[in-house]
Amino acid sequence: MALVTDLTVRAVVDALDARFPRAWAESWDRVGLVLGEFEHPVTRVLCVVDCVPETVDQAIELGADLIVAHHPLFLKPVSSIAPDTFKGALVHRLIRAGVALYTAHTNADVANPGVSDALAARLGLTALRPLAPAEGAAAGEGRGLGRIGELPQPLTLAALTRLAAERLPATAAGVRAAGDPDALIGTVAVCGGAGDSFLAVAARSGADAYLCADLRHHPVSEHLASGGPALLDVAHWASERPWLDDVAAWLREVFPVEVVVSDLDTDPWTVHANRDDLEIRP
Ligand SMILES: [Zn+2]
Repeated sequence: MALVTDLTVRAVVDALDARFPRAWAESWDRVGLVLGEFEHPVTRVLCVVDCVPETVDQAIELGADLIVAHHPLFLKPVSSIAPDTFKGALVHRLIRAGVALYTAHTNADVANPGVSDALAARLGLTALRPLAPAEGAAAGEGRGLGRIGELPQPLTLAALTRLAAERLPATAAGVRAAGDPDALIGTVAVCGGAGDSFLAVAARSGADAYLCADLRHHPVSEHLASGGPALLDVAHWASERPWLDDVAAWLREVFPVEVVVSDLDTDPWTVHANRDDLEIRP
């Protein structure tokens, strides 16, 4: 059933800006309204991690008036949005279809509840606190990047890896872990998205394991060699997709609006193979 509403892009943007203040974003980040007309009515919103051709198609097919995206479409300055550029083409398609685009990125990461709360909730972690408490404009009230919390009962690293694979959205990349598979894990740190800048913070946090995305060989091996907690590396999209449910539920609470969460896996990795799926490297 179509909703009849006089809700405008401006009203939704104002509410999102109040929920995720732009001043909370990192200085390098670019958040807020990317494009769209303030007085355009909003009856349907699509929440996505990435604004890419597939999710723009989805928004247009759905008749969405607004996309709420986690990742900025434009992080670096551009001198053209010509339609023969990848991002320019998306801008033209969105404007032609009357779809506004809004980004809440590191200002949503740091919020309480924020992106890592949704990730931690999927693992059943309780007693959550920030892994890196926010400083500056975002400081206070449990805000910060990443979360650390307790599993309902300790699990081996191997079992926690399976749990993460079960509870997070499925991706081709799946979940991999670094450390002793039999190590017992009770306290877990998590960070939605790329998390290697917090490896040292996780090591000091008292966590038995740290789960994030985009981990690389050398930082991981050096972290483990210096006695850091076990690491779980998940797909970037899978680590942030849980937050979309939270922001969608909040939008539905605040506005008489239909909100759809995109389950299109926008992780760039599409194929994964193991020589032997039962093999665990000694
Ligand atoms: Zn991200």
